[in-house]
Amino acid sequence: MSLTYTSAPDTIAHWIDNEARTGGGRSQPVYDPAHGRVARQVTLATEAEVNAAVASAAAAQPAWAGTAPQKRARVLFKMRDLVERHTDDLARLITREHGKTFPDAQGEVQRGLEVIEFACGIPQLLKGQHSDNVGGGISNWSQRHALGVTAGITPFNFPFMVPMWMAPVAIACGNSFILKPSERDPSPSLLAAELFREAGLPAGVFNVVQGDKLAVDTLLNHRDVQAVSFVGSTPIAHYIYETAARNGKRAQALGGAKNHMVVMPDADLDQAADALIGAAYGSAGERCMAISVAVAVGDIADILVDKVATRARALNVADGEAAGADMGPVVTAEAKQRIEGYIASGVEQGATLVMDGRGLVVAGREQGYFLGASLFDHVTPQMKIYQEEIFGPVLCVVRVDTFAEAVELVNAHAFGNGVACYTRDGRTAQEFAQKIQIGMVGINVPIPVPMAWHSFGGWKQSLFGDHHSYGEEGVRFYTRYKSVMQRWPDSGSKGPEFVMPVN
Ligand code: NAD
Repeated sequence: MSLTYTSAPDTIAHWIDNEARTGGGRSQPVYDPAHGRVARQVTLATEAEVNAAVASAAAAQPAWAGTAPQKRARVLFKMRDLVERHTDDLARLITREHGKTFPDAQGEVQRGLEVIEFACGIPQLLKGQHSDNVGGGISNWSQRHALGVTAGITPFNFPFMVPMWMAPVAIACGNSFILKPSERDPSPSLLAAELFREAGLPAGVFNVVQGDKLAVDTLLNHRDVQAVSFVGSTPIAHYIYETAARNGKRAQALGGAKNHMVVMPDADLDQAADALIGAAYGSAGERCMAISVAVAVGDIADILVDKVATRARALNVADGEAAGADMGPVVTAEAKQRIEGYIASGVEQGATLVMDGRGLVVAGREQGYFLGASLFDHVTPQMKIYQEEIFGPVLCVVRVDTFAEAVELVNAHAFGNGVACYTRDGRTAQEFAQKIQIGMVGINVPIPVPMAWHSFGGWKQSLFGDHHSYGEEGVRFYTRYKSVMQRWPDSGSKGPEFVMPVN
């Protein structure tokens, strides 16, 4: 079977019952951010179209849950193979619609693939616990059951990886899954759907509805949707969590971030500067694990700022498809304008703008949504550029005198997604990991995205809900617990008992 979505068609459709389905009228443009033009249209679901996706998922789920876990795993093994074979097709779609560089997009596919690999181990992960002879010939065991129809709502910045944080685990657990991808870069989700079909996933187990708030609200209010996973900005994460909970659904909603890197005076400053460049400006800063604040401890700030600026000046900002590009455009004209507004506010509030990325023009891509690297020094916690998530290639440097002040600064921030500490001292590293109130910590690692068998998630305003994403946390989220007690018939009866059974 040949695949349609290796190159995105003019109108990006839904995927229901293992078929692409064009919607009934509503649509919006999808841009090519490197050229700064409309590339195609994406269908926006009506309520009826979302209902059709839920009906398909609800019809498919019981048989899928009844399929032995090892057989479900075999579909994922095939999916794993197909994703690996189509890495470049997926990466090309990501680069075209998102703007990130092609090697970075390949890396995104790889990180999604790792969660599929994790989900291949589902028979082991779903094993319950058994206690023999808890009293009077009775055994007690636990088992985990699929929830039913589950849904995922995902952001623009990882259009393949984030859906793969959710769908493989949900599906492996015996659920059906409806993906509502970002309307800004929806094509990779359709290629993923085609690959799932190719892998042998039955119709209805993985559906995609393209859309906006209407699609999201329809999923949140639908009686047959049991659980909702969300990744995106904090205000929407909060809304999703509240609405889903009000409607009696399980929810995990991962929000925005403001990740700090604490650089201690004993750190290797060249290593720290290299790490800051990649973590602040990679993917044009459009990563929830991007470092957007460097905290310079002691008297190293002048040297550190100088080292970062020297490296930032050498960055090659270009079309993400161009060989040697370090950083592509940001996703839309609106995003570019928002980031420029933050840079203006930093200047107004008195931070020192060491490098100004505004006004950058890339030859041959004059209309593209490009920004160069921006670097602010002498940023204070009172400034808007410190408090809010900019989600662009802007790095703020805050100067503090001591390690204790650095820890206090990070812990006082509203967001708690990721953090890093650069130091050569083991005791400092240990204390940092212990005291810091953040979900994901890197010691001399700038972007500590957990591996697939650990779990991804932040603290504070960066996550609403009890469970982190993927890994064993994902398995817990997508299953419910049941305890079974059984007395074997030949163990005899003691007659009716009216007191709480005790041993
Ligand atoms: P976003 O919140 O604008 O959109 C995310 C999803 O929510 C999209 O599918 C969108 O269609 C939907 N949505 C948007 N507005 C809505 C509304 N009013 N009602 C219902 N649904 C709505 O986020 P984005 O701009 O696509 O992505 C960037 C954000 O995602 C950043 O804040 C980033 O930090 C965050 N993010 C967080 C993580 C994490 O793991 N914590 C990972 C990636 C991205």
